[in-house]
This record gives sequence, C-alpha cells and structure tokens, in this order.
Amino acid sequence: MIKLNTNYNNLKDSYLFYNIAQKTKAYLQENPDKKLLRLGIGDVSLPLCTEVIQALHEAVEDQSVKERFHGYMPECGDPTLREIIANDYAKRQVPIEKDEVFVSSGASDELGDILDLFDKSASALVIEPAYPAYVDANIMAGRKIVHVASNDENGFLPVPSEDQLADILYICSPNNPTGAVFSREKLQQWVDFANQNGSIILFDAAYEAFIEEDLPHSIFELPGAKTCAIEICSLSKTAGFTGTRLGYTVIPKALHRGGMHLNEMWVRNRTTKTNGVSYIIQRGAAAVFTKEGKAQIQKNISIYKENAKILMQALDAVGIWYTGGKNAPYIWFKCPQGMGSWELFDYLLTNAQIVGTPGEGFGACGEGYFRFSTFGSREDTKKAAERIVSLFAK
Ligand code: PLP
Repeated sequence: MIKLNTNYNNLKDSYLFYNIAQKTKAYLQENPDKKLLRLGIGDVSLPLCTEVIQALHEAVEDQSVKERFHGYMPECGDPTLREIIANDYAKRQVPIEKDEVFVSSGASDELGDILDLFDKSASALVIEPAYPAYVDANIMAGRKIVHVASNDENGFLPVPSEDQLADILYICSPNNPTGAVFSREKLQQWVDFANQNGSIILFDAAYEAFIEEDLPHSIFELPGAKTCAIEICSLSKTAGFTGTRLGYTVIPKALHRGGMHLNEMWVRNRTTKTNGVSYIIQRGAAAVFTKEGKAQIQKNISIYKENAKILMQALDAVGIWYTGGKNAPYIWFKCPQGMGSWELFDYLLTNAQIVGTPGEGFGACGEGYFRFSTFGSREDTKKAAERIVSLFAK
C-alpha cells in the first residue's frame, strides 16, 4: 500500500480558530439579538485603494486585446515588478538586485514552499508565541523544532543563545501575535549568530509597513544579513491584498551553504513548481509602489493605527500591560485579574460581546496573554474600547 506522510499525525489539531468559531457560534445561537465586536481576525477590513483598482481594471482590459494579452508570466515574477520592488528597497538605502527579488502569491505560500531548499534533517528554531504556520510546516516535513519562549521581561524579543542552536531561524518582526519589533542591536545579534553557526534566518516582514519608529523594516538593513537571511514579504496587510494575493521574497546572491547558492536553487524551484503569478495581480501590485499608491495605502494604514490608539488608550486607562500597537497592527496584553487566555475569551464574549484571540493558541508561553487585532471597523473598535474600560475599571 502507498505510504503517506505520517508526520501529519504529529500535527496538533488547529483548534485555535476552530474553537473561537465554535464558541462564538454557540453564543450567538443562545443570544441572537447580540452583535459581536470582532477584534480577533487578522484580515483587513478596508478595500483596495483606487490606484490599485484602476491598474487591475486596465490589466483586465489588456487581457481582452490581442496585442496586449499576456499568457504565462515569468515564473520568478514580471521583470518590471521585480525591478520596482528592488527600487523600493533602494529608496530605503537597502541595495537589492532585481533578480534577488521573487514575486510570490503570498507570504504563507512562500513560508511553506521555501522549506524545499533545506534538508529534512535541518532543525528549525521558532520564537514563541508565533504565527502557527512556522511550527506546522516543519512538523509536516518531519523536522526537529527548537521552541524558544519569549516573555514580557525581554519584551517578547529574545536574543540568541548557544544552547538553542538550529539550522533555520524564524524571525517575525513586527511580530504576529505580540506586535513587538526587533531593534537594530538585537536583530544584529541574530544575524551574527546565524553567520557564526551557518544557520539561515527566514525573516517574515509581513507587517513592516506598520513600523513608525526608527526600527528595521528589512533584515538587509543590517550588515552581514545577505550571507545568512531570506526575507519574506507580503502586500496582504500593507495594501489589503489578503484576497488578491501577492507577496515577494528576497534571496541574496551572496547566500550560499556547502557550495550551493540559494538564489539559484530558488530559480530552479520556481521554474519547476510554479507558472508565475497572474499578470493582472502583478499589475495591481505595481500600483502599490507608485507615489499615489503609496499615499493611498498609507491612508488605510493610518486608519488601522487610529484603531490601535483607541484600544491602547483603553488598556492604559485600566492599567493593563500590553505591547505592540505602535509599530504593528496587533496589541498583545496580559490577561487582567489573573485570568487564563481562554477564560478571558469567554469573559469578554459573554460580558462585552468582544471576540479576541487567546494567547495560548500561539504557543504555550502565550498563556496568560490575549491578542487584539486593529484591522476591525472603527465602530466596533470604539465600542470594544468603551466596554473594556467599564469592565476593568478599578
Ligand atoms: N506572516 C505572518 C506573520 C502573518 O501574520 C501572515 C498572515 O496573517 C502571513 C505571513 C501570511 O500572509 P499572506 O496573506 O501574504 O499569505
């Protein structure tokens, strides 16, 4: 009989969002007149900006005209878009060559696919609490996982340690779920650690557009990163592309191990395993990087940031400790009154109709914490903030 990948048996049930959905469904069945305030989702709520919509329309028109029609696109991305993205890095004083940029259909797809570059025996270090896909993708591949717990004492930004060595190092900054962002100094420690040990950092920069303080947006701002890092980026949260799908990955030509060059390997991988991202979507993505497009997406980001301020003010008012919010679309706070994270979930649902995300779902060390997303509607966010103040005022 065919042998299947039995590593799937080692996956924990992805109960986090399932549990949330079950609990909210049951609550609404019992309380059909109640309206929920949804601060749990990591999906955006604002539509694509007009500059992108116009480019998408034009690209659809192109597909109806023989002379402007596009069939298969180059597997690693439209050269024009690759150049636009490289130029965007250059504007931020990060020199990247256009063929170091790979256009993808999103960061999730890429975070899973990129593991093709590594041997099954390569171990993976995951800083927790973490985006659940890092752990699950490596369990599916049968890899050893080194779980590194972070906490409020290190601001959820741990530094590397010789007794926690691994081949693949996941760093997500700004972080989902904690919203914490690595400083140059701390990130440099990880870069030096990776270079010393021959490890490779997978740097997830999906939320870089939310950084407003003087903190690194790209790992390639740091000396030495080109010999130890791959950066995975996405327009999902930057420009509302969660349902439109486009991301990009930077693999420097200087990145090699054991005589093998990862950029060349990825070209080989993409040309074998994909036929590129849709022409229409790549045209829409190019519009994100125009002057007008940038201004429009910034306006949307500032709406989410205003939501963050409203929630942070409420937490400040009742003296609840939190991180994130300022440079990230997530606020990560300590459950008040010593509650567990699922206990707080039930409490907020029942007493304030607020739906958030229990920290325990992002790794064991997330227990005792809770995540609010700032991607919800302004109306829901305001109501939630008011209810938090009245629930937890001393
Ligand atoms: N990386 C992180 C940290 C995320 O939180 C998400 C989505 O929530 C992704 C990657 C996936 O992004 P995409 O929509 O580009 O697949």
